[in-house]
Amino acid sequence: MYRTRTCGELRLTNVGERVTLAGWVQSVHNLGALTFVDLRDRYGITQLAFTEDASEELRQKAGKLGREYVLQATGVVAERYSKNKNIPTGEIEILVEELNILNESAIPPFTIEENSDGGDDLRMKYRYLDLRRPVVRQNLELRHKFAFEVRRYLDEQGFLEIETPVLVNSTPEGARDFVVPSRMNPGQFYALPQSPQTLKQLLMVAGVDRYFQIVKCFRDEDLRADRQPEFTQIDCEMSFVEQEDILQMFEGMSRHLFKVIKGIDIPALPRMTWADAMKNYGSDKPDTRFGMEFVELKNNQPDNASREIVESIFPDGFGVFDGAVYIGAICAEGQAVYTRKQIDQLTDFVKRPQIGAKGLVYARVEEDGNVKSSVDKFYTQETLQVLKQKMNAKPGDLILILSGDDAMKVRKQLCELRLEMGSRMGLRDKNKFSCLWVIDFPMYEWSDEEQRLMAMHHPFTSPKPEDIPLLDTDPASVRANAYDMVINGVEVGGGSIRIHDAKTQQKIFEILGFTPEQAQQKFGFLMNAFKFGAPPHGGLAYGLDRFVSLFAGLDSIRDCIAFPKNNSGRDVMLDAPGFLEQAQLDELNLQVVPQE
Ligand code: ASP
Repeated sequence: MYRTRTCGELRLTNVGERVTLAGWVQSVHNLGALTFVDLRDRYGITQLAFTEDASEELRQKAGKLGREYVLQATGVVAERYSKNKNIPTGEIEILVEELNILNESAIPPFTIEENSDGGDDLRMKYRYLDLRRPVVRQNLELRHKFAFEVRRYLDEQGFLEIETPVLVNSTPEGARDFVVPSRMNPGQFYALPQSPQTLKQLLMVAGVDRYFQIVKCFRDEDLRADRQPEFTQIDCEMSFVEQEDILQMFEGMSRHLFKVIKGIDIPALPRMTWADAMKNYGSDKPDTRFGMEFVELKNNQPDNASREIVESIFPDGFGVFDGAVYIGAICAEGQAVYTRKQIDQLTDFVKRPQIGAKGLVYARVEEDGNVKSSVDKFYTQETLQVLKQKMNAKPGDLILILSGDDAMKVRKQLCELRLEMGSRMGLRDKNKFSCLWVIDFPMYEWSDEEQRLMAMHHPFTSPKPEDIPLLDTDPASVRANAYDMVINGVEVGGGSIRIHDAKTQQKIFEILGFTPEQAQQKFGFLMNAFKFGAPPHGGLAYGLDRFVSLFAGLDSIRDCIAFPKNNSGRDVMLDAPGFLEQAQLDELNLQVVPQE
């Protein structure tokens, strides 16, 4: 037996026991006659003590130890003189009697401690060392527990976990595919699944009834903090259900996860239509940990988010507002104290190219109720009082106003400003969770790039029955039976009720611009299957990485993935992707044009 105990479990009650531990040297403290070694394994850290009573040979051995050496140590548990209150094993130490060096270690490139001195690149290159750090390891433990509880819940609800293939053909989820050349079928390629969408629908045709899979999906997109080229979904599908059944089932799953993992009872999830989310928060994934909802001060452009015309509260006078199609504002409570400099910072923030506002108008409500604004010279105090009233602003509040000629664009800019103010005002506490469903998404969104309507969710999503007549007259306003679960401004999951008859599916493909031949060629397998008695069905998929990072309070999903890729999609540890030998390329019938 290598060990009788772990480095995380011994306490005062074990004093006097003879134990054997194994682990890595975190640190060595040489105090002349005494040597202390912190021994670490997955479970914790235990102090090994080499005292005057130890044999000369033993003390010499201890003197030679370096960081990350692998040891096996046997000795007796003793109470420590100077106790370390910061760790659970801090009241005891092991008086070592036998020491076995199981392996030496090169000097690690960074210290493997809570606060590592390794930069991101170094940590990723030596990820196996990074993973020895408790902070990172804890994320993997959380992820394990999370996946385990998902399986437990879904199993109890009668779901079957079924694997679907990884070598498939393209499944359209709106991203680029990763492809794999086929040696046996020269010139042909598999695609890696962007999701098992069509396969899980075929499983419903097969009568599986309730399916789930914790599954790797692949999307060749530009990367951000919350995106990886390969990521994990909790993919689910159910037969003979309506939207309500799915919302209930998965609200139940989230409640279970919050309860058993975080010890939190979450309230019933409120539901917000996509239109309200866009109108009031400028986002289909609103962070509802705080209010600060938008107030429309002018809207001449009815759209899917708001069909209402709002007359401007401002009389003509200020060119920017006069010419704007939309004026929207937020009220930051108690922030009238903002200095000129802070306002300038906010203005620079909204003018950054990523946000793209032209400028920022502000108004402070002073203690006497008067309003002082950056547009004072254009408006009377009466107009500014109307603004104050509209905004429901009190003395001490700061009103921030954006305007422009495209309502949706301004809403998105205002959304960024709202989130920024939320952060500055400390309203986005990572330990507070606000969950909701966003429902009634539009079926389509216009793509400037493709100059056509694109499926907002995916082409298998069914329209709301009452909106079906609009498919012929005004497809852009058709709403879908689609829903997202949003937590703290993060879309953790989303899905839809699917189309289950070949005719409607054919029609949707047409609206998306597929000719019947193209639709047949790409999705013939699915439409064909629908001819054989497809049950009504629907489902959703959660992003496991995102959900776990939220639970762990992480800023990036990378920290809950054992071996993540960097922002250029590289695995710097494996040095992937890499070049192939010519022989391998020949076998695959591939020619590579060398890059200069
Ligand atoms: N396949 C969808 C996605 O990956 C989820 C779903 O509709 O079930 O977003």
